[in-house]
Amino acid sequence: EFVEMFVGVGASRVRDLFKKAKENAPCIVFVDEIDAVGRQRGTGIGGGNDEREQTLNQLLTEMDGFEGNTGIIVIAATNRADILDSALLRPGRFDRQVSVDVPDVRGRTEILKVHGGNKKFDADVSLDVIAMRTPGFSGADLANLLNEAAILAGRRGKTAISSKEIDDSIDRIVAGMEGTVMTDGKSKSLVAYHEVGHAICGTLTPGHDPVQKVTLVPRGQARGLTWFIPNDDPTLISRQQLFARIVGGLGGRAAEEVIFGEPEVTTGAAGDLQQITGLAKQMVVTFGMSEIGPWSLMEGGAQSGDVIMRMMARNSMSEKLAEDIDSAVKRLSDEAYEIALMHIRNNREAIDKIVELLIEKETLNGDEFRAILSEFVEIPVENRVPPATPAALPA
Ligand code: ZN
Repeated sequence: EFVEMFVGVGASRVRDLFKKAKENAPCIVFVDEIDAVGRQRGTGIGGGNDEREQTLNQLLTEMDGFEGNTGIIVIAATNRADILDSALLRPGRFDRQVSVDVPDVRGRTEILKVHGGNKKFDADVSLDVIAMRTPGFSGADLANLLNEAAILAGRRGKTAISSKEIDDSIDRIVAGMEGTVMTDGKSKSLVAYHEVGHAICGTLTPGHDPVQKVTLVPRGQARGLTWFIPNDDPTLISRQQLFARIVGGLGGRAAEEVIFGEPEVTTGAAGDLQQITGLAKQMVVTFGMSEIGPWSLMEGGAQSGDVIMRMMARNSMSEKLAEDIDSAVKRLSDEAYEIALMHIRNNREAIDKIVELLIEKETLNGDEFRAILSEFVEIPVENRVPPATPAALPA
């Protein structure tokens, strides 16, 4: 709220703020969303921003102006530390950074205790288990999860939240609202083959997360979903694991093509393809996992979400390198698709049997799925036994 339409207003507000702070010292000044004024100067694409720059300059001046020990501590928060002006981060200004990432399992347990304090749970609900099932959830997601579960319990006429409401709320937060199962025979069978394709290609590719469940109950945009139990350390992923995800992700389209023939493939794989292409691209340009070699091919701001910065990085790249990147990405996806097609072709009998059961029951859990599949084919050792506590991500 520092920056106004009129040039100079922001700067004078900064002056006032520090004047007030000095009068009240010792004190703490906390600036939320510092990137609103602290963005790197001089990158004003489409015209500069005099007001914002003046406000920032004033802030820098104030922070320098402190005599020895004025008893004022300035703290600021941002989601975009990468775009802050470097002058802001110099010694004497914001020179210490504390990064607050999404909480780990211990953090999630503590957050759940805070938000669960005023809610009633059945004896079968354990906050520790919920914490283990929700990797990647932020504090706000966890609060939302418990609220959703409470609403569901209320709607079902229960006086306490049971683990059923917790399960349903996790599914809902990750994948969206539950819809009604379709009745049209042909589309239902197509969606069933598509999902079983994901489940089989994932399960048979070494390094893939194990299947938690396959369902034909639609959620959000998805007509059916295959859920996988995520690895417990989502920050350190091997090339094999990433490649297995691409194969698993292509399993849906591969099943459509093998079972129904090329002219019958549907738009249902659009979301899968988008994810997979993004992943393959990251493997090439960010993680150095292609024949181009261990290079980071994105420079500086190019890793940020800023489209214009990315375009600029791309323009400064040689034509040849840009072509190499594209062909490396294509080769990764082509290779993965061949493997997916092979898994589907080689396991037609198992697929038919699983699909038949899935259409009848509408949801199969991971153990049921693996039990049938292992009658026909050996499942790679590392993909066989899921960890004790299931959590899930859809594909
Ligand atoms: Zn799919």
